[in-house]
Amino acid sequence: MARQIRKISLDCPETQIESDLEKYRLQALDLGASQATVVRVESVPVDERVPLKCQIPRCFGYGTGAHCPPNTLKPAELKEILKKYNWAVFFIKDVPSDVIVRDKATIKERVEAYQNVYHIVNQVESAAFYDGHYLAFGFAAGSCRHTFCGQLETCQAMTNGRCRHSLRARPSMEAVGIDVYRLTASVGWDIYPIGSDCRPDEVPKGTLAGIIIVE
Ligand code: SF4
Repeated sequence: MARQIRKISLDCPETQIESDLEKYRLQALDLGASQATVVRVESVPVDERVPLKCQIPRCFGYGTGAHCPPNTLKPAELKEILKKYNWAVFFIKDVPSDVIVRDKATIKERVEAYQNVYHIVNQVESAAFYDGHYLAFGFAAGSCRHTFCGQLETCQAMTNGRCRHSLRARPSMEAVGIDVYRLTASVGWDIYPIGSDCRPDEVPKGTLAGIIIVE
């Protein structure tokens, strides 16, 4: 069925925004999210200490991709931008713990899970855009450097300015300073800290997350 692109309205009624947000929430679930909810943007915690964890201890992806720290949006910049928004759709995707821990045997499943999160963010952001919420934008999980360009030597966006996946790649929530653990716990969902030496039998599941800042 052809998409109905909505005329831009300078005065979108609250009831329309509410029904759009619910539509995006259900869309995220349809596309593979385990849980999805509508949140007020003011309740999204942004903290400078979150990307600090990319640097100390240093992630092997730190500085190697255009959407990763220190190359991406800074928490202070994001905080200013978020002051202009009211509503977001936040979702998580639960994955088996043996998929999320760093193990070569499950790399295919891990990359697929991350790609699914990017897909959900892309699709919901696009739906919001064509519904007239044209300043909607989203953040995914992990790193596009590993999710899309893991087999390649470099991030092309950093070498010649042309991202290989410009419409799919996004910074992760954590890369820009969103405290995903806190946000997930605050909406009542379970999440566990998983570090590089975590074993699958130590946690019941892994959790990936994404957010679309809608309006
Ligand atoms: S998708 Fe690839 S080329 Fe694009 S920013 Fe990410 S790592 Fe760089």
